Amino acid sequence: MSNSQPAPKDFIRAIVAQDREARKFNGVVHTRFPPEPNGYLHIGHAKSICLNFGIAQEFSGLCNLRFDDTNPAKEDVEYVESIQEDVRWLGFDWQDRCFFASDYFERLYEYAVLLIRKGKAYVDSLTADEIRTYRGTLTEPGKESPYRTRSVEENLDLFSRMRAGGCEEGAHVLRAKIDMASPNINLRDPTLYRVRRVPHHRTGSDWNIYPTYDFAHPLSDSLEGITHSLCTLEFEDHRPLYDWLLDECEMACHSQQIEFARLNLTHTVMSKRKLLELIEEGHVSGWDDPRLPTLMGLRRRGYPPEAIRRFCEHIGVAKRDGVVEVNLLEHFVRETLNANAQRVMAVLRPLRVVLTNYPEGQVEELPAVNNPEDPAMGSRAVPFSRVVYIERDDFREDPPKKYFRLAPGQEVRLRYAYIIQCVNVIRDEQTGEIVEIHCTYDPETKSGSGQSARKVKGTIHWVSATHALEAEVRLFDHLFSVPDPEKDGRDYRTVLNPNSVERLRGCQVEPALQGAVAGQRFQFERQGYFCVDSDSTGQRLVFNRTVALRDSWAKIEKK
Ligand code: ATP
Ligand code: MG
Repeated sequence: MSNSQPAPKDFIRAIVAQDREARKFNGVVHTRFPPEPNGYLHIGHAKSICLNFGIAQEFSGLCNLRFDDTNPAKEDVEYVESIQEDVRWLGFDWQDRCFFASDYFERLYEYAVLLIRKGKAYVDSLTADEIRTYRGTLTEPGKESPYRTRSVEENLDLFSRMRAGGCEEGAHVLRAKIDMASPNINLRDPTLYRVRRVPHHRTGSDWNIYPTYDFAHPLSDSLEGITHSLCTLEFEDHRPLYDWLLDECEMACHSQQIEFARLNLTHTVMSKRKLLELIEEGHVSGWDDPRLPTLMGLRRRGYPPEAIRRFCEHIGVAKRDGVVEVNLLEHFVRETLNANAQRVMAVLRPLRVVLTNYPEGQVEELPAVNNPEDPAMGSRAVPFSRVVYIERDDFREDPPKKYFRLAPGQEVRLRYAYIIQCVNVIRDEQTGEIVEIHCTYDPETKSGSGQSARKVKGTIHWVSATHALEAEVRLFDHLFSVPDPEKDGRDYRTVLNPNSVERLRGCQVEPALQGAVAGQRFQFERQGYFCVDSDSTGQRLVFNRTVALRDSWAKIEKK
């Protein structure tokens, strides 16, 4: 191969490149993404998906989707379908290679029989508790089970009876016969099969025994011709077992397991079990709650798949566990949306402004740029009239220094429109609350007309009151108020952010948003990126704030 190849981006790609060059596996690269269908995917899985599918693409190889469905008690077709949807949404294609470990149950059974015949596996009849005690500890070797010396015939007979359904759960297990004194606990006669009288979502009640992950995984990899089996670091100590099984089962393809650090993010929890708890205890609304790190949640929140892919590429893979700042993910979301989201104006907390010198009934259609980053996105017409809404926050009766927005006597530019000046503040007589403000507009200052030489320091967004559409906008903050919710073993429930969602009703948005459909993303000028929520209907628009803009105004405010 030529040495003009760029240096590999990470240690896994370095191994794959080297293997390919050495023509290990005949120069073939074949990976897999192996989710267990017992929950929905999260951003951690996205790292694994991008890695497995990405490597296959870069090395002209293939990547399989394989469901690791060996635990029927927790698994369901509902999860299978959503996982497929999420992988496709992320932008990856397994073509015709979607497999299930359960497809291999018959062959796995035969490999177990082979191990028994070779004297490398036995049926143990100790109780689960006894097995645990016999296993020993990190500092003490284990003890051999009295059933370890059962004859091959007896083992074969018992194992076939386990399969046939003649045994109670927990009565027997099949174990590999390796070494009870091994310093690696995973090699102390690990369990290969358990009796489970539970129907499986694919194989129904065909089976009364199910293989363990440790048994099924290496063999499934090998049966599929997987060359590089990428998994997270907690499986590092399982690798000797992975290799032992491939050797003892005399597999043609000896897949190579390589471990990498899992992705952890600040301000969230990632494990499926904890995500499920958050849902079941009602802290969030479901698996697609926009505050969750699930791919469904991020999709509903408005994260573009491209941003997630770029984030995964940026963080890379390493051998050491770490925590990535959620801000970094948000950075890629902003960057992606900045390039392709249409700009519109939306007023989240409206304040009515009457332009007293603007002719009653007059409407102007003012041209507005759809995306300054992308001229090809063109422009649209925004209606302007005598009454507009501006953001409550863009008016101060008693403005601090360097407040360049609207204040009594002060001028501001309405984006794409005119310079206006505040001349009067109208209050509710009872409550004293400001109900509207009166301004005059300067007809000589129309944007883009070339006639306006006059400049003011502030420009604010607005919508025309008669033309605006009403909308609900949901603002999200981190689900947890601290970066590491589980620091020192603390219960993450104690640090849930009570203000992780704020619902604003009665927001006023530009008429261009009429007919926007769920999933469409926009930049609301000066506010952030927003996505139409699935709760939207033709009558009622609902937006989620995907991510805020880095707001230079907010900084001035705090001074
Ligand atoms: P969880 O711990 O969230 O329940 P899991 O590891 O049990 O996840 P699986 O369905 O077994 O979930 O995972 C499928 C693949 O995704 C595995 O190869 C696993 O190593 C990988 N994976 C899961 N979580 C992460 C993560 N946070 N970062 C990187 N890869 C991950
Ligand atoms: Mg798992």
